Amino acid sequence: MFEVLATDSGCKARAGRLTVAHGVVETPVFMPVGTQATVKAVSPHELRELQARIILANSYHMFIRPGLEVIGKLGGLHRFENWDRALLTDSGGFQVFSLAKLRKVTDSGVHFQSHIDGQRLFIGPREAVRIQRVLGADIIMAFDECPPWTAAKEDIDVAVQRTVRWARICAEEWAAAAEIPNSKLQIPNHQQLLFGIVQGGGCAELRRECAEQLAALDLPGYAIGGVSVGEPEEEMLRAIEYAEAALPVAKPRYAMGLGQPNQIVEMVRRGVDMFDCVLPTRVARNGTAYTADGTLNLKRAELKDDPAPIENECGCYACQNFSRAYIRHLLKAGEILGLRLVTLHNLHFYLGLMRTIRAAIVSGEFGAWSRQFLERYKPREDYE
Ligand SMILES: [Zn+2]
Repeated sequence: MFEVLATDSGCKARAGRLTVAHGVVETPVFMPVGTQATVKAVSPHELRELQARIILANSYHMFIRPGLEVIGKLGGLHRFENWDRALLTDSGGFQVFSLAKLRKVTDSGVHFQSHIDGQRLFIGPREAVRIQRVLGADIIMAFDECPPWTAAKEDIDVAVQRTVRWARICAEEWAAAAEIPNSKLQIPNHQQLLFGIVQGGGCAELRRECAEQLAALDLPGYAIGGVSVGEPEEEMLRAIEYAEAALPVAKPRYAMGLGQPNQIVEMVRRGVDMFDCVLPTRVARNGTAYTADGTLNLKRAELKDDPAPIENECGCYACQNFSRAYIRHLLKAGEILGLRLVTLHNLHFYLGLMRTIRAAIVSGEFGAWSRQFLERYKPREDYE
């Protein structure tokens, strides 16, 4: 299922190949985020042209709207959203903890109210796996408790113990593949890989304990969760290091919800294989493009008659066909094409970055390449 094909001699970066029901995913990989069963503003056809191999969808959102009855009747998420390559769904844990109202967490799961219509709902580890079986993604995630970064150590400890217990229940439910009692649902019958999620906040010993206990379950892959929740970058990278050190080398590692291009390079150096992040599509809708020099706000006044493309060396559809001046005009006029073009460019940038990273690892040049990239790339916060 997962093979490590090359490892850098100077750091933990590795190139691998993950085989899932809907194809082969070469790692390190970036997975565009399709929260509502669509990567915002782009079609599956465009995602294929961008060479995306795997995308995400959010179980919590699918569960709340349109609901499992609808997706089950339509044959699962692949058919529903017409995506025939690999798909990953999260367990809903993160959204239950960040979006839902009036939650009550117990050892069996979380009671909450839908953030859409206030309906009272419950998701526990078994429910999370069942929901994801109906959705039918290639990779499904264990249900976890994601405490805030600022939580007290005792509370993070409680969340870690619960996360490990829930992962065991998820693994049982996943292995049993029990009948789901609703004849109207068409449950996809391809193989699904279950990943565990390491929690533990910024605490080295809790991260290690969580990773070790999950590793004992011998799951097909592991994610590092509870990062990118408002903590400073150095602490985030340390949390990744703590977890990574206790995870099995032969399994894929996925940093959830991360990150900026420079952070992705830093995490690849630390042995992470899989990434997802809403930034390339989210900031595009504010008119911000990623370039090798950092972000570029295309609404800036000095670009109003700039004939250059967003980025000179870029081969994406937007850069091959349109000037900064034109895209700026579209954004200023509120035209949908403007945000679509910036989205296409940003996804091309992220997916191309991962291809470059992988090639550099395979050819043994990742160390020199990453130093050059990080020297040139200037992270800026002017995109919000
Ligand atoms: Zn471009």
